[in-house]
Amino acid sequence: MSLLNCNGVTKRFGGVVALDDVSFEVERGETVGLIGPNGAGKSTLFKVITGSHAPTEGSVHYDGTDITGWSPHDICHEGLVKTHQIVRPFENLSIHQNVEVGAEFGGRRPENVEERAYEALEFVGLDERAHETPTELSVGALKRLEIARVLATDPGILLFDEVAGGLDPEETEEIVSLIGDIKDRGKTVFLIDHVMRALMNVSERVFVLNNGEFIAKGTPAEIQNDEQVIEAYLGT
Ligand code: ADP
Ligand code: MG
Repeated sequence: MSLLNCNGVTKRFGGVVALDDVSFEVERGETVGLIGPNGAGKSTLFKVITGSHAPTEGSVHYDGTDITGWSPHDICHEGLVKTHQIVRPFENLSIHQNVEVGAEFGGRRPENVEERAYEALEFVGLDERAHETPTELSVGALKRLEIARVLATDPGILLFDEVAGGLDPEETEEIVSLIGDIKDRGKTVFLIDHVMRALMNVSERVFVLNNGEFIAKGTPAEIQNDEQVIEAYLGT
């Protein structure tokens, strides 16, 4: 049984069809990349999976459980967590408290949350700054804080929505290497990125969305040589 399974997912916003009959599976321990031009429906797909949007049609199964239409809180409790595209930490809390509160109120409530938060900060290289407030953090460090927050929930699958967005090449490299470390821990990762090269390096399989539909699924090598994919990107 696959860890994550979407079957015939359609999402309409009024007349806009953001997702059109999308089906796929993500296996345990796999790293899957999701690419597609702006407005393709990538973020909407992640929001349907994590419960911010109920699908108009279709179903989402996680670890054999039908989670379609569940609240984000209950879905997080089940073990699916998503990073936010825009990171807005609580500025009056310490970096450590931000991770702790995030893990606590995300709905997952893991045991030893205080310790887990420190572990996660160490993992992303922010442990030495744990007691500072996040106001002085660079964009790259804020993204690492966001990764620590989701890691501290002890997730079964991590969904990264453009976690390297807006970063310089060096910061991007740090994030890619972190995702590699997360993968090496046996975690299942599903990530959206527009920095194609970064995503290609870390993913075993890549899905391509265009106008709410998958136009290709395959290995990074297959995707990079796919006519339809090249056309979708050059066409925007
Ligand atoms: P991507 O993340 O691939 O850039 P999105 O999933 O954000 O694309 O958007 C897909 C389409 O759905 C776009 O046409 C967008 O305008 C539309 N859309 C996304 N969210 C909403 C919403 N909350 N209300 C109405 N339309 C939306
Ligand atoms: Mg998006």
